Amino acid sequence: MRIATINCGSSSLKADVLDSSTGDRVLRLRAQRVGDAEASVRWDDAPAQPLGSRPLEDVLGELLPMLFERAGAVDAVGHRVVHGGDRFVRPTLIDDAVVQAIDELTPLAPLHNPANHAGIVAARLALPSVPHVAVFDTAFHTTLPSRARHYAIDPTLLPQARRFGFHGTSHGYVARTAAAALDAPLESLRVITCHLGNGASICAVENGRSVETSMGMTPLEGLVMGTRSGDIDPGLILQLLRGGRDIDAVDTLLNRKSGLAGVSGTSGDMRDIERRAAEGDERCRLALKLFAHRLRKYIGAYAAAMGGVDAIVFTAGIGENSPGIRHRVAQRLDFLGARLDEDLNRDAKVGAQTPVFDISDPTSRVKLLVVATDEARAIAEHTAAIAEHHDDVAETKTIPIAVSARHIHLTQDAVEALFGAGHQLTPRNDLSQPGQFACEETLTVVGPKRSLEKVRVLGPTRPKNQIEVSRTDEFWLGVDAPVRRSGHVANSPGVTLQGPAGSLTLTEGLICAARHIHMTPQDAADFGVDNGDIVEVRINSEDRDLVFGDVLIRVSPKYALEMHVDTDEANAAELSRRDEGMLVATKGTARLTHRERR
Ligand code: AMP
Repeated sequence: MRIATINCGSSSLKADVLDSSTGDRVLRLRAQRVGDAEASVRWDDAPAQPLGSRPLEDVLGELLPMLFERAGAVDAVGHRVVHGGDRFVRPTLIDDAVVQAIDELTPLAPLHNPANHAGIVAARLALPSVPHVAVFDTAFHTTLPSRARHYAIDPTLLPQARRFGFHGTSHGYVARTAAAALDAPLESLRVITCHLGNGASICAVENGRSVETSMGMTPLEGLVMGTRSGDIDPGLILQLLRGGRDIDAVDTLLNRKSGLAGVSGTSGDMRDIERRAAEGDERCRLALKLFAHRLRKYIGAYAAAMGGVDAIVFTAGIGENSPGIRHRVAQRLDFLGARLDEDLNRDAKVGAQTPVFDISDPTSRVKLLVVATDEARAIAEHTAAIAEHHDDVAETKTIPIAVSARHIHLTQDAVEALFGAGHQLTPRNDLSQPGQFACEETLTVVGPKRSLEKVRVLGPTRPKNQIEVSRTDEFWLGVDAPVRRSGHVANSPGVTLQGPAGSLTLTEGLICAARHIHMTPQDAADFGVDNGDIVEVRINSEDRDLVFGDVLIRVSPKYALEMHVDTDEANAAELSRRDEGMLVATKGTARLTHRERR
């Protein structure tokens, strides 16, 4: 698809027209210093032309119709939107209600969302006949667990005082690109992505989901940046205020006069700082040390948060272009098993032709990669995915819900230990997922407090033993089991199983299953979701309407479309054991809503 992407800032406009499948550029527009007398615009590589001192809305009203006319046929328009708040968890097809919601999120991003909003309004006016899609910087981080989402303050003080994270489009894109280069599913990897540009942030991507990121409620938290301080002691702000500075002065100090600029006394451009540091400038040397130290500290922390790391990715202006910074950061990561090859690091060059460059030493357990970020391409890909499926399928397609009672999956060895040598499971009835069946066999699950009898075994046998129970069952058994997706039993508690031929004490395997929806790739395309996505599901039941969050999408050609919840969840929404209800996806957001089956 030919997609126009629009990234509209308060004084700048970046627009690209590109092929979403190849990333090839058709047209590029860059306007800067919009609003002041020096404002100018460049089309592709042509010389800059003055724009005059005009407000952003005027400039958009003139340039966007020109963009669409010069581009020829455009199939859809993707808009970068910085803040999606709690509401937008994925790229979203824009309608009037979405435009209004983006405007209403202005208090969370006063510098960015008004400009994003202005870009959307002008582009929809200039090209109303094609779908417009909003791609949110915050959306990739809506998977942050509550421990990474909250600050340690009274949560009732300020509703928006929580961590949102930014640069999500880039973190998601480079994580996917790295996984593709490593020829491994992103869902199986722990990746740390370091987006090091003028703004800088780092993200822990575990099994394809953002589980930690360094920017928080605003893009000021975290790493040392071009002109932003990143982490400081909040007490320092109090001291500055007590010392007589007003709020605006402190805001300017921390956002525009700190970071690399503040420490080094330069503009904060990494190239200048590296050059001056090499000439012996002490403040520039300190700036480099601070930048690298903070980043290394975060890498260590994020490896700890994920229980290890498989790949560390460097991207954006500094990450892609500064071997010096990569060298400093990687110098002391040996303890993680991350070793840099100095020659490869020096030679690394990435771009459209070579988007990934491996700079790891052959003995390195952790892959160190330089990856070219391309936010316009990422926006174009998201936009194409939504635009291709923005027909009425996603609005009407329904999903059946099945309630899973407690059950057990066994290895063949366990079957024999519990039911006797050579025993084979006896199918009792087929389950909805092709090839799966409930067995005649049942077992007693013995916990430290009490036991559960007649727990059904499901077949066929699997490579790992797994016992799936509800929270209520856990209380009964006296075990605290984690919420996990099926197959992820590492470090879960063990339990004893009693069968007719013997008992078996497992060291791990007891989990509370993460609610999920099985679907085929075609279903996923119809709903506009991907494997590993997290969606919300609305249940409209007689008396107990409920929205389930954290619902995992699992895609395989072997699956049949069905959402699985456990008995506690079913009771909470007043669902019956095999409910007749169906779910409906709303446009674009993958928030799914329920509809009664007739
Ligand atoms: P971005 O915001 O992604 O455009 O990145 C801008 C930052 O990347 C600035 O600090 C630049 O100085 C830095 N940068 C760009 N090229 C280089 C380079 N060759 N060496 C070091 N830093 C660079």
